[in-house]
Amino acid sequence: MIIARAVVASKNIDKVAEIESVLSELGLVGEIVRDAEWEDVVEDGGTLEENALLKARAVMSTTGLAAIADDTGLEVEALEGAPGVHTARFSGPDATYESNVAALLDAMHGVSNRGATFRTVVVLCEPDGTEVVVEGSLVGHIAEAARGSNGFGYDPIFEVDGVTVAQMSSAQKAAISHRALAIRALAAALQSR
Ligand code: IMP
Repeated sequence: MIIARAVVASKNIDKVAEIESVLSELGLVGEIVRDAEWEDVVEDGGTLEENALLKARAVMSTTGLAAIADDTGLEVEALEGAPGVHTARFSGPDATYESNVAALLDAMHGVSNRGATFRTVVVLCEPDGTEVVVEGSLVGHIAEAARGSNGFGYDPIFEVDGVTVAQMSSAQKAAISHRALAIRALAAALQSR
């Protein structure tokens, strides 16, 4: 264990579950504090890194605890790297997982280059002011149609080696995912300091 107590700076239960699972597997945090409260953080940074920093800094300063935040973007080659930092709201301000998937399938209709990368930036902010920024990525393709019911967000249309992430078990996703790789990079960075 490297961090005695920490809070996962997200209100997205899907992300929190994945982050906590990898943190526990690595034994990185002694106690994950689950009852901390904070105001929603406006994610108006221009990059994934800026948004992850905004969240981790705000939650660390409100709770007084080490805070681990992630920001994730889907970068689609045929869309010149979009939606990127705007991935959460790809289908508009009231976007849901389903409306985002539908909007991306529409945008990719008839497009033959379906290459895409999920990128997650993870930031740890500690109460002594230390900040650690790491990232992880997963290269794959946008499927022609949604398949699978595991995972969340764009998982039903993000394919790796012919299988969508939503067709993988949570253990299979955790072995390769952008988010899991970012948390592993955080562990490596902390172990070497
Ligand atoms: P954010 O990091 O919460 O801003 O997430 C950006 C967008 O990417 C949201 O629409 C999420 O649902 C989606 N997203 C984040 N992580 C994943 C993932 O692991 N799989 C699929 N979609 C994801």
